[in-house]
Amino acid sequence: MSGEAGRLARSYFKNLELFEDSLVLPPAAPAAETELPVLPGALKSLPASLDEFERQISDCTRCPLGPTRTKFVFGVGNPAARIVFIGEAPGHDEDIKGIPFVGRAGQLLDQMLAAVGLDRRVVYICNVLKCRPPANRDPEPVEVATCKPYLLTQLSIIRPPIIVCLGRHAASVLLGTDAPMKELRGRVLPWHDTQVLVTYHPAYFLRNASHQYLGDQDFRLLRKLYDEITGGAAPY
Ligand code: SF4
Repeated sequence: MSGEAGRLARSYFKNLELFEDSLVLPPAAPAAETELPVLPGALKSLPASLDEFERQISDCTRCPLGPTRTKFVFGVGNPAARIVFIGEAPGHDEDIKGIPFVGRAGQLLDQMLAAVGLDRRVVYICNVLKCRPPANRDPEPVEVATCKPYLLTQLSIIRPPIIVCLGRHAASVLLGTDAPMKELRGRVLPWHDTQVLVTYHPAYFLRNASHQYLGDQDFRLLRKLYDEITGGAAPY
């Protein structure tokens, strides 16, 4: 078996382990002991930490995006974050660097956080898909269905009280709704003991600067929710 074929075979069987009821993950005793609540659809055996989970799936080739990516983009931020942002999929810059939201949209996200007195130290940022669709095309349903358990597992490990969906696609995947943005944003949506906010993806505001005020409204609501759950304590 060639080196590449061997790598793909190892990756296949490694990922098969994650999804087969009859098979178990490598030792993850702390997760079993803590009995963290696992979200429906997440891996049945919860990894002990985000780092461990990233190591387990970083070679994933379960959907067609695996072989076309440059870098796997797991997520970045505070593993004990009170707020998790979810975007759609890595773009060009993220695919090169292996880090979500590092391009212009990511810079705008940082600015919007700063405007409400927050920054990346208190949040975690990831995407529904961990690999970039070629030429930034829309994700295929099979890609979303294959990758979604990874997102739900990340959320099961972090269990943030607040989730922010950046864009209708992320909201659709997480909440299972086809409702338009005008019905989703500006509201607090309950989801598995978590409060979910939906706002536009920062890339939308880069294309539609006159709508930036909507994002600013949504981030002020985010800060209000954050203050409610922290009792107004300073975030740093
Ligand atoms: S997009 Fe998700 S399921 Fe597809 S190869 Fe990447 S990590 Fe695996």
